Amino acid sequence: MNNVEYLQPDLAFVARLKQAGGENVKKCFQCATCVAVCDVTQSDKPFPRKEMILAQWGLKDKLFYNPDVWLCHQCGDCTAHCPRGAKPSEVLAAVRDLSLAEHAVPRFLGKMHASPAALAALFALPAAILLLAAMYANGLTIPGGEIVYSHFFPLKVIDSIFIPGALFAIITSFLSLKKFWGGMQRNNREKKAPDVAAVLGAVKDILLHKKFAQCRTNKPRYTGHLLAFFGFLALFATTNLVMMYHYLLGRETPLALGDPVKLLGNAGAVTAFAGVSYIIARRLAAPDETGKASYQDWTFILTLYAAIITGILAESARLAGIPAAAYPIYFTHLVLVFFLIAYLPFSKFAHMPYRAAAMVYARSNSKTN
Ligand code: SF4
Ligand code: SF4
Repeated sequence: MNNVEYLQPDLAFVARLKQAGGENVKKCFQCATCVAVCDVTQSDKPFPRKEMILAQWGLKDKLFYNPDVWLCHQCGDCTAHCPRGAKPSEVLAAVRDLSLAEHAVPRFLGKMHASPAALAALFALPAAILLLAAMYANGLTIPGGEIVYSHFFPLKVIDSIFIPGALFAIITSFLSLKKFWGGMQRNNREKKAPDVAAVLGAVKDILLHKKFAQCRTNKPRYTGHLLAFFGFLALFATTNLVMMYHYLLGRETPLALGDPVKLLGNAGAVTAFAGVSYIIARRLAAPDETGKASYQDWTFILTLYAAIITGILAESARLAGIPAAAYPIYFTHLVLVFFLIAYLPFSKFAHMPYRAAAMVYARSNSKTN
């Protein structure tokens, strides 16, 4: 009797899931065609058929703490072949969207990110902090002479805002992932700790984009995601190298155009711009193949795009010597970057750590991988 498990369907969850993009969930009649066509699923625990019935029954905990929901790379192959038009890839995407608020620590930030009504407040916070910092640093006046962004925002002022923002993201990501990992262990009765081989295997899959490469219906997604991913990594590396230049070598910005760190940053910006442009163009031109984009999808994609564009424009305005444009653009760029970094565990950006955790969990516990 100790092994008896009582299921607690949650009909309100089914309604929420339908609202979040999984409106066709009830059409599924469990034929398993989706499992047969999914190239990403594991053979010992196939998905997404079982997730469809869990969703129909409203078993939200079985979905929220289910690594398979995050192993799905939204290629759309299952949706293209589903004979009932149940759109399993969109149902899983909706579960992932709802999961972000469920796992978020603190929870209210997850809920705010899911709500269009809270968007202005989320942007207002970094805008207000940066405005106050600019007032403190230079009385909010646009500096004369050569355009040097550190005259407007000294590096120590920037660091005093962005380092706590990044630490907040790291701590809350850790707490959110801990909750997710513990739930996966409880749900699946698999308690193996992540092993080194599983971590290395997942890192290799992510870097090579191996799972995206298996997509057929939405094949171009591989190219867009790969460019955006490596462009972002290059920009992240550039930011850290600029800090090392400043604190270890005493070198100040702006760096010469031929400096290796500058070259890396510019290459990262162009690569990320190309990748995100391609993703947006595909979403607009082929919505049937890419799947319906949610509010959280668009908020993240457009914020990332705006951050890349304002970064490129800030450099262009500086090189062109237009201070009236350069400093406001730079300010806007900082607000967008803060939004992306500090709120990472609550926005769609969190797909990176959640999917990585699910991949490590699945590899640690799989009998076949
Ligand atoms: S989602 Fe579609 S393909 Fe998958 S089991 Fe249900 S009806 Fe079949
Ligand atoms: S969208 Fe692709 S990866 Fe996800 S379940 Fe369907 S076929 Fe598998």
